[in-house]
Amino acid sequence: MTKQELADQILDSLTVEDWEILEDRNSQVPVSAHNRETLLALRDTETEFDGEIEEERIEEAKALLGRFLEEHWAEQPAAHKYVTAASLALAFVLERPMHAWDAVHYAAAVQDEKVRYYCAYKEGGTICDHCPTRHMEEITPLREAKMAAVAEQYGDVSAEIMRTVFAAGFSDAGILPVEEIRCHEEVRKICEENRCRAYGRTWACPPAVGTLEECSRRVSAYRYMQLFSRAYRLEDEFDFDGMKDAMMAFKKAVDELAARLEEKGWSAGSQEQQEDGKSPAKLQLLSNESCTRCKTCTYPDAPCRFPDRLYHTIEGYGYYVSELAAQAGIPYMNGRSTVTFFGAVLYGNKDE
Ligand code: SF4
Repeated sequence: MTKQELADQILDSLTVEDWEILEDRNSQVPVSAHNRETLLALRDTETEFDGEIEEERIEEAKALLGRFLEEHWAEQPAAHKYVTAASLALAFVLERPMHAWDAVHYAAAVQDEKVRYYCAYKEGGTICDHCPTRHMEEITPLREAKMAAVAEQYGDVSAEIMRTVFAAGFSDAGILPVEEIRCHEEVRKICEENRCRAYGRTWACPPAVGTLEECSRRVSAYRYMQLFSRAYRLEDEFDFDGMKDAMMAFKKAVDELAARLEEKGWSAGSQEQQEDGKSPAKLQLLSNESCTRCKTCTYPDAPCRFPDRLYHTIEGYGYYVSELAAQAGIPYMNGRSTVTFFGAVLYGNKDE
């Protein structure tokens, strides 16, 4: 069977009434947002799906799903068809994880210009076998080798931070000694042109982050920048909803990283510490894009509501992310129909 035939079969398995339920986000039928959006996106896409799928695998997945739902969700029979349809679409047509990528801690890695997802929870002999995520063991040795090289060149702290970066789900990471990083006046000028419509709107972007001199002073209190990235798969180059979802998922992953680093005793510190750069915290995190944590930012009338979770933007510090990526030895772009976001950890106080 071709993927397109399966996509059509999945769409035909739902009635007009089912689609009305999916479109009504307040409906009483318990469909998860992930499954709902998956099915609506499948219906609305203009993509023609290429490739063949073994019918036996589809039948096996359907049977496993049926048994699973009967056993674990018997009280909601009306919802089963949506779970089944969305799971088949994700596993065989879209080739994405069966769970929302920010709901489970997948690892992502890019190989041959393709984003691949790895699941630490994947087990054999269950419905998970049909999920296109791969087993963690496939990337673990590659990452261990990278961390061993980092430990040798930059020390154990750098390797441990990289381990934490990978554990938080990022696809790649690389290290730059801070004295080798250059900021550029023209990047700040691009911010001022406000094409991204983020300039002067939150505490995470210029001018709130301070002048380039102030940003550089803050950065130069640290020895290393560990640049990290995560690539996300899109339906196509015009998948703007996918890009927005990916950006939100990236920001969640940065929060996850901050929490994991904090657990290990590396706190991002107070906003004051980040601002003065004289008594730096153990580390500082930078993130891509602006801050979207609050519906309406307090800027400029009142202080940030979440100063401990305020991550200034890399671009706002005057860096060309493409230049940083090249220096850190990680890809800036990861192939067609993907979007890659970047963040950075600054660490290693010079005073210590
Ligand atoms: S956390 Fe809220 S108040 Fe602080 S910069 Fe972000 S949007 Fe603004």
